[in-house]
Amino acid sequence: MQIQYAERIRTLPPYLFAAIDQMKREALSKGADLIDLSIGDPDIPTPKHIVDAMKKAVENPEHHRYPSYEGMLSYRQAVARWYKRRFNVELDPEKEILSLIGSKEGIGHIPLAFIDPDDIVLVPSPGYPVYPVGTKFAGGISYFMPLKEGNDFLPDLNAIPEDVRKKAKLMFINYPNNPTSAVATSDFYREVIAFAKKYNIIVCHDAAYSEVYYEERPLSFMEIEGAKDVGIEFHSLSKTYNMTGWRIGYAVGNREILAGLGKVKTNLDSGVFQAIQEASIVALDTDDSILKEIRDIYKQRRDILYEGLRAKGFEVKKPFATFYLWVKVPRGTSSIDFVAKLLKETEILCTPGVGFGEYGEGYIRFALTQSKERIKEAVDRIGRLSL
Ligand SMILES: *Cc1c(COP(=O)(O)O)cnc(C)c1O
Repeated sequence: MQIQYAERIRTLPPYLFAAIDQMKREALSKGADLIDLSIGDPDIPTPKHIVDAMKKAVENPEHHRYPSYEGMLSYRQAVARWYKRRFNVELDPEKEILSLIGSKEGIGHIPLAFIDPDDIVLVPSPGYPVYPVGTKFAGGISYFMPLKEGNDFLPDLNAIPEDVRKKAKLMFINYPNNPTSAVATSDFYREVIAFAKKYNIIVCHDAAYSEVYYEERPLSFMEIEGAKDVGIEFHSLSKTYNMTGWRIGYAVGNREILAGLGKVKTNLDSGVFQAIQEASIVALDTDDSILKEIRDIYKQRRDILYEGLRAKGFEVKKPFATFYLWVKVPRGTSSIDFVAKLLKETEILCTPGVGFGEYGEGYIRFALTQSKERIKEAVDRIGRLSL
């Protein structure tokens, strides 16, 4: 029998992290003392009191059955409390909050609810690869909005051609941004809301890194007047509480948009394991001291790597948020070639910018997901790099 993949799978670009994994395996098989700064997955464990809450919840037989599709009301109420406390935003737990099996799940599925074949989705480049892939799976077409340093890595909405604006149904934005580490201003969000209203475009803001910050607290899109009329915000416990393996997140905002996403989900999945929701309620109700501890760890790492890269002559901005450093590669080198060179000469692995889209070329991304000691070691090795 001949197995043939569907067009939508065949024409996918190779998943960035699969290619990186291959490079990593080869280096490891040669016995490299690898410092892996390539993947945005916190190395710090989930706080103990959250794990303890999970242990207790898992014993309760009530949680062994199918969960509700939209999430337990108690979980959605905890999200509402968290939004009120953190952003002073009021949300109706019944209609304006939807649980997700990690925010990636919701991001990947939302185009299925709103995109018909050949509809346009506005997608940032560089950006999280799930935005264009989710778009493609729904039959839509990504129009890539370049994020350029000269515009503080915000998309220039004025540069989007009129015919594209008219055909666009949905837009993804993401601040604090992966991979550039940029943060957005309220002015930018106001501009997005006006643009979305004028052209009838659904805004999907990905706020996965809102709690990983070092200076000012990043805004929620939902804090801005009119945001709930045009969009939703994706959020995740993954990066905030070091819970990437648990698979839980949520979307909040416009109830009709959430109902559309919910309709897709009720037909594809059966919600989040309730014991995980119980533990997540405990996480969301934790006071902020624990988040401060996590931020302080990343801040120390950030300063070490930032200083080390600057000392070597790299062009890099000190991130105000996220655990990424977005670094220019020396002129005349492609990002992939530079990643390969760095791996070969220093046994450090980072991510080529082009993996996040065409406009990521010319950059590499370092993730601060190794200990301070390992990052110090990485800086020593970078110091010896031949440039
Ligand atoms: C990590 C990440 C996510 C999603 O994480 P989940 O674990 O699926 O909640 C979403 N968006 C961006 C930009 C990310 O980096």
